[in-house]
Amino acid sequence: MTTQYPQIRQYIGGQWQDGSGTGRTSVLNPATGQPLTELRHVSPGQLDQALDALSESAPPWRRTAPAERSRILRRAADLLRDRAERVARTLVLEQGKPLAEARAEILVSADILDWYAEEGRRAYGRVVPGEYGTRLSVIPEPIGPVAAFTPWNFPATSSVRKLGGALAAGCPIVLKASEETPGTAVGLFAALEDAGLPGGVANLVLGDPAEISAHVLGSPVIRKVSLTGSIAVGRHLARLAADHDQITTMELGGNAPVLVFPDVDVVAVAEALARAKFRNAGQVCNVPSRFFVHESIAEEFSSQLVRFADSLKVGDGLAEGTEMGPLANVRRRDAVAALVDDAVKGGAEVLAGGRPLDGPGFFHAPTVLAGVRDDQDVFRDEVFGPVVPLTTFRDLDEAVDRANDSPYGLGSFVFTASLDAATRASDALQAGMVGVNTTVLSRAETPFGGVKASGHGQESGTEGLDAYLVRKVVLQHPPITWDSTKGTA
Ligand code: NAD
Repeated sequence: MTTQYPQIRQYIGGQWQDGSGTGRTSVLNPATGQPLTELRHVSPGQLDQALDALSESAPPWRRTAPAERSRILRRAADLLRDRAERVARTLVLEQGKPLAEARAEILVSADILDWYAEEGRRAYGRVVPGEYGTRLSVIPEPIGPVAAFTPWNFPATSSVRKLGGALAAGCPIVLKASEETPGTAVGLFAALEDAGLPGGVANLVLGDPAEISAHVLGSPVIRKVSLTGSIAVGRHLARLAADHDQITTMELGGNAPVLVFPDVDVVAVAEALARAKFRNAGQVCNVPSRFFVHESIAEEFSSQLVRFADSLKVGDGLAEGTEMGPLANVRRRDAVAALVDDAVKGGAEVLAGGRPLDGPGFFHAPTVLAGVRDDQDVFRDEVFGPVVPLTTFRDLDEAVDRANDSPYGLGSFVFTASLDAATRASDALQAGMVGVNTTVLSRAETPFGGVKASGHGQESGTEGLDAYLVRKVVLQHPPITWDSTKGTA
């Protein structure tokens, strides 16, 4: 299959339109550093069109039967599967991950749409027992128009988590996808359109992020804001949302600790953790990032990690055999290199990699650092790159205390065969999710989200649908009469 980058346009009110704003963004291929296209920014007038489209489509979409909404989402999921190869290649061109990872991301995105399609038909309310003759009902209703913001690291899955939840719940949505990965978003919206989604119910805008969020969140039309991105942008959007009482869901990244106990199969666990860490060149918010390894197995564990890191084939995500691609942008490559340099100056030892790779594109070698201190930036900050910082521990309580000494609280991991250690650690870790003997924290069926600075609210699972619903309480009594013996008034 040839790999052609798609035309990038805005999708507003059911029409594909060129951005009519003054700004331009060059979309780059991170494997070569070369431009793929120039994105023309959305204009303020087009943002108003999108807001009008949301206002107009909110009542009819809310009245559309959940079964019909479900059919449209399922058709979109099927179309995405049919087009997986083409959309995956677009994803690789603009984001860099290996083709096999991009294919998996598109197929998982289709599964997430299917999950929401099913779950939207089960947005049950409840009837609360009251006095005889009364009906006390709790009835879910769509929250209203949604503004969603998604990043470049998982442009498909992060977008369908928001699109699927909002649309299944009966909410229209405007999505600002990342300007660095707009082609994947165009592929998703084309699938929704071709599946029969009425025009105006889902809108795609691309341009200057700060201008778009200020404009869109400045409108009282928007009732819900959902972001996947950095802590700084999350706080900024939460402040904007407060002015119009918009409810927020914030998925703001993590710096997940992983505790590896001495009773594990060292070779197998080291390889599983290395695979997870170097996936998407480490630009994943919910993978093991701070490695706490029991001191009795640290040497063997680190040598297995190094063996894996050194053997990884790094290259263009579309090239045969590539196991790790470039960083998605030059910012990330430079930030990762600076964190590694700082760690080394502070006494960490480079066991593998340790530097950006020469040549075009934004590549950084798979890196393993030993002897990292807890107070170093490479351990405290979200590195978001292919770097494993290793430290050792002696006992569970000490490891948990050090793991919890972080502003982040998205994912956390424990590897052990001991039921007692697994239970104690998962009870004590301050995180939205704990993986016990697994590196996978995200599934369509289970809620995904963090605590502390990692954000609030959850996506996927029943909670992911609930994030787009409000509960109206109806307290219904018999008609009031003057005869007080007949009933309650
Ligand atoms: P960033 O915060 O600048 O950008 C993340 C996303 O937010 C992008 O899509 C961007 O377009 C958007 N954005 C930026 N400013 C905005 C604004 N004022 N209004 C609305 N949207 C805005 O982050 P970055 O430089 O791309 O990455 C920096 C760090 O962010 C990473 O190191 C990582 O820690 C974190 N991050 C987390 C995730 C995640 O999955 N939670 C994803 C991407 C980045």
